[in-house]
Amino acid sequence: MDNKLLEIENLKTYFFTDSGRVPAVNGVDLFIREGETLGIVGESGCGKSVTSLSVMRLLAHTPGRVVDGSIRFAGMDLLSLPESKMREIRGNEIAMIFQEPMTSLNPVYKIGDQIGEAVRLHLKYDKKKARERVIQMLKLVGIPRAEEIVDEYPHQLSGGMRQRIMIAMAMSCEPKLLIADEPTTALDVTIQAQILDLMRKLKEERGTAIMLITHDLGVVAEMCDRVVVMYAGKVVEEADVFDIFENPKHPYTQGLLHSIPKLRRKTERLQSIPGNVPTPGNMPSGCKFAPRCSHAMDVCREQEPDLLQIASGHRCRCFLYQNDLAKEA
Ligand code: SF4
Repeated sequence: MDNKLLEIENLKTYFFTDSGRVPAVNGVDLFIREGETLGIVGESGCGKSVTSLSVMRLLAHTPGRVVDGSIRFAGMDLLSLPESKMREIRGNEIAMIFQEPMTSLNPVYKIGDQIGEAVRLHLKYDKKKARERVIQMLKLVGIPRAEEIVDEYPHQLSGGMRQRIMIAMAMSCEPKLLIADEPTTALDVTIQAQILDLMRKLKEERGTAIMLITHDLGVVAEMCDRVVVMYAGKVVEEADVFDIFENPKHPYTQGLLHSIPKLRRKTERLQSIPGNVPTPGNMPSGCKFAPRCSHAMDVCREQEPDLLQIASGHRCRCFLYQNDLAKEA
């Protein structure tokens, strides 16, 4: 299947700070097919969000800059497009929702005006048609009293309602790709389930591909077709969702899975991964996971493993499997 909608190759995004160059994303390769949901998982600071901001070219207000690699979306090279074209793509073809909707909703504009502006801009609707479209979208995401809410301000709504508004805004122009960065982390469990249901429904009904960034493997199990595991600015494992849960290969992925309570038998003790994610300015040499890995060998501290295919659709960055491959060769 080669219906790739988004293809990222060797992406490097560095932050330039007073204390030097910090590689937040350091050679990421991943792709998303049309209509599929890709989960990007890893602990905080592993480069998930910086990858998505690089795709959206929303690094201007940070000290970050893409220094190498390519990002292709629907046949376009996003990194070389003029900003005016990128503005058309943002919202229209790629939309993004964040953990905290208030960072994206403008508190001084009514809900209807905010979503309506995106609709008028991207779909070239007049004011009346845009308002009708907004009410239709609010109903679609399960907002009650849509005809009244359209004239209310974000602060008048609950957190769950605001997240729905964000999804309505993101989906109003029927994007080909929705990037959802921890969309349910700040919500209680019931609202979280409703929002995930909503995203699934929108994907099924409209064929939208989703890049779902989360540290929550429970959400991944429910939502994703394929999973990319990131560690220290790189992809360390990639496989379909079934393989990731049933046959995880990378010791980091195994550690993440062992730290989920509901996947363990009651008699087994929950294990957390020892140590912390290294800070981008202070990376160990060799495999970046070596200081936390119980399988680490001498070679792991000296050389960095490549991300290699170990089975169909399954890639892993670990010497344990590269030695296997070498033995087989
Ligand atoms: Fe562990 Fe070595 Fe594999 Fe890194 S390469 S994850 S240190 S076994």
